[in-house]
Amino acid sequence: MTLGTTPVSVLPGVGPQRLRTLGLLGISTLLDLITYYPFRYEDRNAQPGRELVHGSRVTVRVTVDGAAGVKYRGRRASTTIAPVVTEDYRRLHAVWFNQPYVKDQLKPGRKVTITGKYDANRRSITVATHDFVVAGETVHSDRIVPVYNVKADITPKLLRNLIAQSVKTYGGEIPELIPLQLRQKYRLIDRLEAIREIHFPHTSDTLHQARRRLIFEEFFLFQLKLQAFRWVHRHEQPGVAHDVTEEALAQFAETLPFAMTGAQRRVAQEIVQDMRGKTPMNRLVQGDVGSGKTVLAFLAAYIAFLSGHQGAILVPTEILAEQHFRAAAELLEPLGVKCALLVGSQKDKERKEVLAEIEAGAANVIIGTHALLEEGVRFHSLSVVITDEQHRFGVEQRSIFRQKGHAPDVLFMSATPIPRTLAMSIFGDLDVSLVDELPAGRKPIQTFWITPDKEERSLRFVRSELAKGRQAYVVCPLVEESEKIEGVVNATDLYEMLKDWFAGFQVGLMHGKLRPTEKEDVMRRFVDNEIQVLVSTTVIEVGVNVPNTTVMMVYNAERFGLAQLHQLRGRVGRGEHASTCILMSKPDTEAGEERMKAMVATQNGFVLAEKDLELRGPGEFFGVRQSGIPDFKIGDLLHDAKIMQVARDEVQSCIRSPEFWTLPNYSQLVEYLKQEKVLLERAGD
Ligand code: ADP
Ligand code: MG
Repeated sequence: MTLGTTPVSVLPGVGPQRLRTLGLLGISTLLDLITYYPFRYEDRNAQPGRELVHGSRVTVRVTVDGAAGVKYRGRRASTTIAPVVTEDYRRLHAVWFNQPYVKDQLKPGRKVTITGKYDANRRSITVATHDFVVAGETVHSDRIVPVYNVKADITPKLLRNLIAQSVKTYGGEIPELIPLQLRQKYRLIDRLEAIREIHFPHTSDTLHQARRRLIFEEFFLFQLKLQAFRWVHRHEQPGVAHDVTEEALAQFAETLPFAMTGAQRRVAQEIVQDMRGKTPMNRLVQGDVGSGKTVLAFLAAYIAFLSGHQGAILVPTEILAEQHFRAAAELLEPLGVKCALLVGSQKDKERKEVLAEIEAGAANVIIGTHALLEEGVRFHSLSVVITDEQHRFGVEQRSIFRQKGHAPDVLFMSATPIPRTLAMSIFGDLDVSLVDELPAGRKPIQTFWITPDKEERSLRFVRSELAKGRQAYVVCPLVEESEKIEGVVNATDLYEMLKDWFAGFQVGLMHGKLRPTEKEDVMRRFVDNEIQVLVSTTVIEVGVNVPNTTVMMVYNAERFGLAQLHQLRGRVGRGEHASTCILMSKPDTEAGEERMKAMVATQNGFVLAEKDLELRGPGEFFGVRQSGIPDFKIGDLLHDAKIMQVARDEVQSCIRSPEFWTLPNYSQLVEYLKQEKVLLERAGD
C-alpha cells in the first residue's frame, strides 16, 4: 500500500463532507495527513492539584465526585457544573459553558483529564470545547499536545484522532528514505519514529530530534529531485556545442562603446566556456543594478548567432523589451545580426511578420515579453534562452521558455540579488556568476531619508537639478484617487501638482493603467529628454536605463520593500553625473524604520537583500506568487540554511556515485524519484 496514493477516505469517520474540508486543508491522501505537521504545541502534562496557579491554563486528572448539573439561562445559554476531586484530593468544580451534552459523560466515579482556566477563588476550572478527555486516551491531554490549523467540521480533536489513528494503523507503510549511513553520520532518528514524535512528542528533546530529522529529509528529497533531474538531462540530452573563435569575441568587445569591467570579462569567459561545451549551460548571472548585465545577455545571444542558431531574451515588461531591442540592434546589426522584437501590443500584421522571421531563422536574436512564450511562437533553431530579471517569472514560465529550443543553453540574469544560500536552495547545482563590480566612473548615489514635512525642500532640490539639464523620476505607490488610502500619494494627483511646481519643464505621467502605446510614447519622450520629470508608479522599477536622470524621489517609501527601493534607486546613477535618491517616508513600524536606515547606509544590493530577508522573510522578499521559491512543510530556508547546505552536498556525492543507481540501500530513493516523475526518461532502461 502506498500512502501517497491512498485517499484519506479509507479512515473510518471520513465521509464526503469531511473529505472536502480536509481537501481545503491540503489533505487528500494518507501521506498528506501524516505529514500535516502541527504549527505549535501545548504542554498539557497533568499537574498536581496543589500546584495550580490562579488565572492560568491548567491540566489536571480528576475523578467525578457526585452528580453533575446543568443550569439553563435562556434558550441557548447553559452552564454544566460537576464536582471533581484531583489525584491529591483537592475538591474543585469543573465548569462547561453551553455544552449541556457533556453531562452524560460525567458519571460519578469516572476518571477524566480536563484543561482549562483555573479560578482559585471559586475553586473552579472552566473547560473549553474539546478539552475534556476520558482518562486513558493520551493524544489530547496529559502530554505535549499538537496544535494544527483546522477548519469547520475538522475540529482539533478530530484531526488529532485521524492522525493518531493513521500513524498507528499505517505506520508500518512509511518507507525509510534516508540511507542508513547518512542517518548514522548525522544521528537522525528513523522516519516512523520522527513522524510519531512530531505529532505526539514524548518530551521536548524527542520533538527536537524529530524536527531535525524531518527537516533534513525534506531538504534532502528536494535537493535530490533538483539534482537528479539535471543529472538525467545531462546524460540523455546533449546540447549545442557552440563554435566561437577568439577573433569573434574580440570583435564583439570592440563594437561595445565602452571597455568591459573585469567582472564582466570574467563572467563573459564563463558563459563562453559553458556554451562551447556539449552539456547545456544552466547559469545564473547575479549583479547589482547597473553592473552591466545586459551586454552579457547580448553576448550569449551573439554566440548562438555565430554558430548559425538563434538566441532569445525574455524580459518582464514591454518598456524593457523595447529598450533592449534598441540597444541590441545598435550593437549587433553592424555585426550582421538581425534582431527582432515580440511583444503583446504589436498589431496582427506586424506580429505575423515577426513570427515568420523567427520560424524561418531570418531573425537571429529575439527579444520579447511573455508573448515569446505563446504557443504560436516557433523558433528555427533556438540554442540559448536568456531570462532577464528572472525573479519576475515563475517556474512554469521558465520551463516553457526552455522548451522552445532543444536542450538549449540557459542563462538567467538577476538584478535582485538573491543571497547565496537562498539561490543555492532554489536552484540546486545551478552555476552562479557574479558581476561584482560597477563600471568605472560611476558616482555613488547619495541617499536621503526625509519626513513628509521636508517635501518642499526636496522639490526645490529636484528643480535645481532640472535647471542643470538633468532629469528626474518621482515615484509613488498608487495610480489614481479611486484607490485612495489615507495618507498615500497617487500618481495622477501628484502629476497635476508637479506640473505647476516644475513650470517651464515638461512633466510626464506613467503607470500600469496606461495603454501600451501610451506608455511607450511617454517613455520614448523621456528617453529623448522631451520630458524632464517622470511621475510614475513602480512600472519603471526594473531595468529602465536613462543615464541623464540624476534624481529618484520616492513618496511613501515605507510602502515598498527594500529590494524594490533598491531597484528604483538603481534607475539613477547610470551616467557621469552625481545622483541622488530621496526617500520620503514616515514609517509606523520599527522594521519600517530599519528599512529606511538600511537604504541610507548601503548601496550594496546583497547586503540589502540579506537585511530584507531578516526583516521580512523570503516569501515577501520575492513576492509570494512568482518567486519560484518552493514552499517547505517544515524546513525554513532562513533558520535551517545549514541543514540545506549539508543536504545539498550529500545529494551531490550520492548521485555522482555509480552505486546510487544500483545498490539496494538506495532503491527507495530511486523509487521515490520515479514516483515524482524525475526519472521518466530513464524508466525504459
Ligand atoms: P544591469 O546590470 O542593471 O542590467 P545594464 O546592463 O542596464 O545594467 O547597464 C547599465 C548601464 O551601464 C548601461 O547604460 C550600460 O550601457 C552601461 N555599461 C555597462 N557596462 C559598462 C562598462 N563596462 N562601462 C561603462 N558603462 C557600462
Ligand atoms: Mg538589467
